[in-house]
Amino acid sequence: MDYFPIFVKLKDQDCLVVGAGEIAARKIELLARADAKITVIANEISSAVSNLQVTHNLNIQKKTFSPTVDLHGFRLVVSATDNADTNRLVAKTAAEQNIPVNVVDSPELCTFIFPAIIDRSPVVAAVSSGGASPVLARLLRAKIEGLIPPAYGRLAHIAEKFRPFVKRIIKEPAQRRIFWENILQGSIAELVFSGKEQEAEAQLEQTLINQKENVNVGEVYLVGAGPGAPDLLTFRALRLMQQADVIVYDRLVSPEIIDLARRDSEKIYVGKQRHNHALPQESINSLLADLAKAGKRVVRLKGGDPFIFGRGGEEIETLMQQGINFQVVPGITAASGCATYAGIPLTHRDHAQSCTFVTGHLKDNSINLNWKQLAAPNQTIVIYMGLVGLEKICQSLIEHGSPKNLPVALVQQGTTSNQRVITGTLESLPGIVAGQDIKPPTLVIIGTVVMLHDKLEWFHTDQPV
Ligand code: SAH
Repeated sequence: MDYFPIFVKLKDQDCLVVGAGEIAARKIELLARADAKITVIANEISSAVSNLQVTHNLNIQKKTFSPTVDLHGFRLVVSATDNADTNRLVAKTAAEQNIPVNVVDSPELCTFIFPAIIDRSPVVAAVSSGGASPVLARLLRAKIEGLIPPAYGRLAHIAEKFRPFVKRIIKEPAQRRIFWENILQGSIAELVFSGKEQEAEAQLEQTLINQKENVNVGEVYLVGAGPGAPDLLTFRALRLMQQADVIVYDRLVSPEIIDLARRDSEKIYVGKQRHNHALPQESINSLLADLAKAGKRVVRLKGGDPFIFGRGGEEIETLMQQGINFQVVPGITAASGCATYAGIPLTHRDHAQSCTFVTGHLKDNSINLNWKQLAAPNQTIVIYMGLVGLEKICQSLIEHGSPKNLPVALVQQGTTSNQRVITGTLESLPGIVAGQDIKPPTLVIIGTVVMLHDKLEWFHTDQPV
């Protein structure tokens, strides 16, 4: 370790910034975030710095820095001038007086460096590359920013508030650690992240009471896993998957996504193929409720978005009836994922002013849709579960006035490395598809926007076209 990371208290401490350009302004803003008392010495004061004078109560001294400047009492010195001699002089003067000094962009002159900061006060994370590559540190910060929800600070404040009570109720330190691990990664943390702090505090109180009485309560997260590509999961989906005790998933969720779940979580496959539901819907509903009642944190992982042809509504209805806590996390639905990865905008000023999602699921061998409405021009129709009924769908649209040559695309396993896009018209596509080995799931997109596929196709796989 070339630099030792520490967090320094700067509140009301004197700090000196030499230089008053754009870069100095940025350092001033950083120091001001820690409530430092800032003095600025510079020959010229840029507007960026003078704009900060009032808000940050800066003591600006327009003069040249010289070794005779009294550095006594300064906690930190930052040199941010564009004059190498001045920077060296500042570094030397500060170092002689054992005052930590940072010279912007000159690691060799620094006795301390500024890390890339992730500020979720009071939680603060700092990343440094030891001056080797500030850009790398910043990229890493961006990754961490994504992993730490913005409300982490609020979570820390609540934890701080409850700490004495928890200590009083749970005497054993190891047990207390487990308790906090569960709280800070569980449903209460999720409540804070979604802005429900009062509810979170109430639940935390209740959990403490339960803890005293040994009652275990679980909950269910109904999570959209997106259309297939694992990196199209939301941050929230990933976080919940990494906390869950049990993952209940169906066929649309790819093995790569299941791999992202907590290693030791129990994984329950509940099927859902056409005509072959490994578990009937009612059994899935009660399975979720039973697991939660047994104190488990359950992620019910569904392809795409749980509220779009996902029967998510039915699943949470059961939970609601049984008084079980739950959350729903949206996912990228197949229409959005497949259309994007096929280079087919679902709406377009020249082609479609609306887009309708319908199910092509056959019931008693017929599809009950409002064909007249769907056959109207200037719109896009997306058909989920439309492969089996494809011919009937195309025929019905033609019968209700759609042109025979209206473009249609069939997207197989959209967003994945098996994606294939097969295009044709209402008249030709069913025949084209019939002669091919198509792998589910597939999505059908109908409308003149499909013509844009040839031009806008950007995602390529090894699959035949
Ligand atoms: N809740 C899901 C849809 C479930 S219905 C969502 O929001 O996407 C299942 C249908 O979704 C499949 O029959 C298929 O039409 C479509 N589908 C889901 N993922 C798909 C994918 N990666 N490629 C093509 N179609 C997909």
